[in-house]
Amino acid sequence: LGKRLNNALGQLSKASVVDDQVIEALIKDLVSALLEADVNVKLVASLRTKIRARVKKSLEDAETSSQGLRESNKKQIVQKAVFDELVAMVDPGTEPYKPVKGKSNVLMAVGIQGAGKTTTCTKLAVHYQRKGFRTCLVCADTFRAGAFDQLKQNATKAKIPFYGSYTETDPVAIASMGVEKFRKERFDVIIVDTSGRHKQESELFEEMVNIGNAVKPDMTIMVLDASIGQAAEGQSRAFKESSNFGAIIVTKLDGHAKGGGAISAVAATKTPIIFLGTGEHLNDLERFAPQPFISKLLGMGDMQGLFEHMQDVAMANPDKQKAMAKKLEEGKFALRDWREQLSTLMNMGSLSKIMSSIPGLSGAMEGVSDEDAGSKLKRMIFIMDSMDNAELDSDGLIFASGFKCMKMDSEGIPTGLNKRAFRVARGSGTSVKEVEEMLTQARAMSGFAKMAGGMANASKEKDWTK
Ligand code: GDP
Ligand code: MG
Repeated sequence: LGKRLNNALGQLSKASVVDDQVIEALIKDLVSALLEADVNVKLVASLRTKIRARVKKSLEDAETSSQGLRESNKKQIVQKAVFDELVAMVDPGTEPYKPVKGKSNVLMAVGIQGAGKTTTCTKLAVHYQRKGFRTCLVCADTFRAGAFDQLKQNATKAKIPFYGSYTETDPVAIASMGVEKFRKERFDVIIVDTSGRHKQESELFEEMVNIGNAVKPDMTIMVLDASIGQAAEGQSRAFKESSNFGAIIVTKLDGHAKGGGAISAVAATKTPIIFLGTGEHLNDLERFAPQPFISKLLGMGDMQGLFEHMQDVAMANPDKQKAMAKKLEEGKFALRDWREQLSTLMNMGSLSKIMSSIPGLSGAMEGVSDEDAGSKLKRMIFIMDSMDNAELDSDGLIFASGFKCMKMDSEGIPTGLNKRAFRVARGSGTSVKEVEEMLTQARAMSGFAKMAGGMANASKEKDWTK
């Protein structure tokens, strides 16, 4: 889905003029990408209408406020409109429950058998444990043989206290006893795993309601397998009616699953997704928030994630980082700043992951090892170290501005080649192509900086899962 959407927007940036035809083609591409990913047809149709309207309005607003809108501005406006509507699609506008310290927060997982509840409960326990919550697990699945063993095994591996029984057959009784015990022991987060059976049987729903009444969860979480596609909508509606969950976790997004069905479920139940499951291991849990998700999906990087990483590193030099964050938010971004960011990144570990969250780099970093990411990063820094001050203080456009050789000169530089780029490439022991790539990436970064700054501000206020 990401690739398809990315391509659609790529077509837009290639277009020389932004007219109705270009916009319609973009919308058509978006629509077919979403349908292919299993997003509900009605949802896609309404999205199409909304994008069209928003693009039109945004362009009109911009037109009246500034005479003579440049095509590049138009592109940004269209891109932003598409972005905002896609975000709205995965943002139900309600906030999930946030566990608070100083009380026992009870979380309960519901969903059909095999959705990934037991696995996800353990992942969640690990997540909250890391955040400093005293966390434990309760197994209220008495339906499936081996359910308790599975939870026990997971919990032991993750060193999480757990409760369950081999002899008690009443899930309501086990859930109550477990939660009661852990409440007394003043655990901060108590996670209750329930049974799922195969289908949305009425018995199962009754059981969930009864467990819910017994343990009074602060948040019920519907665990949804991404691979069920379109069925996600009906399934989540049915669960919503019986258990009124307050959050969704979508699992198995690491496979070839078309996550679009899950997106439809959000719209159908007006419930936020809080995490994504991306593998079978305990660490394969990713926080979900609408803006970073869409941003990543569109190959625009995950600025929020990047800022978070940077904050971790910023401990060493808070003032400098603050100044940088401000620059980003204001959309002021020179090559010099880009160089500084990259050298900061060098010290951040897990380079490939971090670099894939940078706009303009995300596509290039797919499947690249940390080592390769590191050497790529170093070369980019070398390139900038070969620039003069005027170049570093610019946004990179200086390279494109009329500094071309018209023919072969005394140094043997071929016709049409950018002289600045050539000098920098030679100075840094790289190629002109690499210099140009670096400039493209820097441009993508500065282009998104303004939008990303706004996005980061918005998500700061909505940081649900902390
Ligand atoms: P439950 O019946 O709802 O409790 O589901 P389980 O937690 O037992 O998971 C069912 C299967 O799905 C197990 O084999 C899990 O390892 C697997 N699983 C769960 N979450 C994920 C995920 O995010 N990605 C992948 N690839 N497998 C998962
Ligand atoms: Mg289970």
